[in-house]
Amino acid sequence: MNKTAIYPGSFDPITKGHLDVIRRASSLVDELVIGVLANSAKPPLFSTEERVALIKEAVKDMENVKVESFSGLTVDFARMKNAKFLVRGLRAVTDFEYELQIAQTNHKINGELDTIFFTTSVEYSYLSSSIVKEIASYKGDVSPFVTENVKNALEKKF
Ligand code: ADP
Repeated sequence: MNKTAIYPGSFDPITKGHLDVIRRASSLVDELVIGVLANSAKPPLFSTEERVALIKEAVKDMENVKVESFSGLTVDFARMKNAKFLVRGLRAVTDFEYELQIAQTNHKINGELDTIFFTTSVEYSYLSSSIVKEIASYKGDVSPFVTENVKNALEKKF
């Protein structure tokens, strides 16, 4: 049986914290599909196509990782991909309540879908796409937090 998991998110842009989760999750399954959410509540800095391209470049060495965009419900994307697992990262207690609510709702809608949480590596526990964008907007050095291609893309945006 092919074990597929999806890792949905905004990835605006992808950070080393996301990549850490991707690396660990991809070792557990046959295929990990990163789902870039096109219909997020707040307008993203990078377009959907840009976010997909940046992730593809960052994961190009990981053979069982695919990148796609999707809109609509995550559970429907999971169904489309035949995925039984949904991957999310937990950074701090503040993530927990929100993530638990979503995981339980998704499980209620699709009883075959289980959410797997990866606790963040300590070195990235403070890291978020928003913080990276803020640093980049003030011309700070983002190289500890993102890959080279993302750093270059951020420099072009600001
Ligand atoms: P969303 O808007 O869906 O929260 P994000 O791109 O912000 O999208 O995050 C996608 C997933 O990655 C979430 O589960 C989030 O908790 C996780 N994540 C974000 N940053 C980190 C990090 N530094 N370490 C581990 N997981 C993270």
